[in-house]
Order: sequence, then C-alpha cells, then structure tokens
Amino acid sequence: MTLRLRFWGTRGSVPAPGPDTVRYGGNTPCVEVRTDADRLIILDAGTGIRELGRSLIARANGSGIHGDIFLTHAHWDHIQGIPFFAPIFQPGNHFTIWGSKDLGTSIDRVVRDQMSPVVFPVAFETLAAHVDFSEIAEERRDGDGFAVTAFAVRHPGGALGYRFSDRDGMGASFVYISDNELGSAETYHTAPDWDERVVQFVKGAKVLVHDATYTAEEYAQHRGWGHSTYRDAVTLALAAGVEQLVLFHHRPERTDDELDQRLAECQAWVTERGGALRVVAASEGMTLTV
Ligand SMILES: [Zn+2]
Ligand SMILES: [Zn+2]
Repeated sequence: MTLRLRFWGTRGSVPAPGPDTVRYGGNTPCVEVRTDADRLIILDAGTGIRELGRSLIARANGSGIHGDIFLTHAHWDHIQGIPFFAPIFQPGNHFTIWGSKDLGTSIDRVVRDQMSPVVFPVAFETLAAHVDFSEIAEERRDGDGFAVTAFAVRHPGGALGYRFSDRDGMGASFVYISDNELGSAETYHTAPDWDERVVQFVKGAKVLVHDATYTAEEYAQHRGWGHSTYRDAVTLALAAGVEQLVLFHHRPERTDDELDQRLAECQAWVTERGGALRVVAASEGMTLTV
C-alpha cells in the first residue's frame, strides 16, 4: 500500500499567520491522505482544511467529493475549519466525520454546536452535502482499501492517535499523533503500561507524525497541557524503529528560524544516538509518500 500525504495545517493551538511563520505555515492541523485507490482521508479539521476544500473542489471538476475525516479530538484547533470547508456546502458530496467514543459528548453534537446560530451564521442542518458521523474507540476499523487503528493518547479531555496500514497489515504504516503528552504520566489516567503500549502502537511505522510543541525549558512551565517536547518525540520514534519522524503541532510562537534550529537539534540527537531515523518538520504544502 502506498499513501500520499499533503500537509495543509501544521500549527498547534491557534492559527499563527504572519511574516515569521511563512515557511512552516500558520494554519492549524489538517493532513490530506490518499490511498492507492485515491480514497480521500482527512486528518483533523483545523484551519488548514479551508484551503484543502478549495483544492478538492478544483480537482473534482464538478464530480462528487467523498471522504473520511478522522478527528483526533474536538479541541478548537482540530475542528475550527469545518464550517469553512467549502465542499460541505455543495450537493453531491459525502463525508463521514470520525471522532472518539470517549468525548464525554458526541462528535456529532460538538460539530453541530460549532455551527449554532450564537456562534456561526449557517446552521449545520442546512448543509447541502451529506455529512454523517461515526464514533471510534481503541480498535481497528477496515476502510475502503485501508485499515485504521485508534489508540488513546495523553491529552486533557482525551485524544486519539491513528495508525493506517494495509488491511492485511503487511505494507508500510503511517501513524498520526497530533496532540500527546509523552512526558507526564502522573497527569493522566492511562494504564501503567501505557509507555510500552505507545511504542508498540508506533512500532516500525514508515512515517510518524507527532506532537513536538515544546523545548524542555518551555515544557517545565506547561506540564499537564497535553503536549510533548522535541526530545520526547525523537525518543519515541527511535524506540519504535520509525523510518521518518515529522515534527508537528508547532507552537504558535515558534518562528520559522527557531523551528530550523529545533529541527537541527533533533537531527543532532539522532546522530548522537547512532540512529538511522530521518527527522523533518511539517510545513504547509509539504508532501510525503508512505
Ligand atoms: Zn491541538
Ligand atoms: Zn488538543
């Protein structure tokens, strides 16, 4: 199986446009994934999904657009692009929005409330496209030409990581973990063996996209906020024998030049530890083949 990825939003927490974030991008999380059969999978619906929507409409050339949207969780930066995703306003399009079963509410409710008249001018019920919802827990689901496995990560309110592979589990795998705090076991009610289980979940992935929000110094001020350090992301990728790590969910304050430095540090740690891991930082427009 070959998956083609394109990054439409790489920034965490809040959009951060401006002259200092031009190269890596200011839009919140959204990744387009295409399977061998050109099946569309969208990971998270931050503000990056707005431009993706425009691109999909241009590429569809009038034919229907169908896809699965997998949300890691319902924090603003992962859903705020949905009302601006133009294909949902067009008849003939069909999307299934996947969200965690353990939200405390339903993903259906969250998306509808985000378009309630108090906060948005267009009601969800009036959308011309067909949009349905599906809930997923820590389990494997088989899609059209792919399998997806969800894993509960450490994040306030809960979040999921997703692993995509062949339905027979033989081909290359791709793991997407947008928001996850590797460093603070005491904050979360995860099982005692969680640290081993997350390594198993990521094991052998060709590409791992992982939260890399903080430096060690920043993290000391933000324990329990749900995000990882650069070093923790590199350590996980090395422990799991990943081929390529993609630093993701960039801190809003992180400038392009700073991010270049953080990336160079990560690459130096890998060299120090004698690893073969390749590390890149996600940038808007970046494409990868898994
Ligand atoms: Zn986030
Ligand atoms: Zn979050």
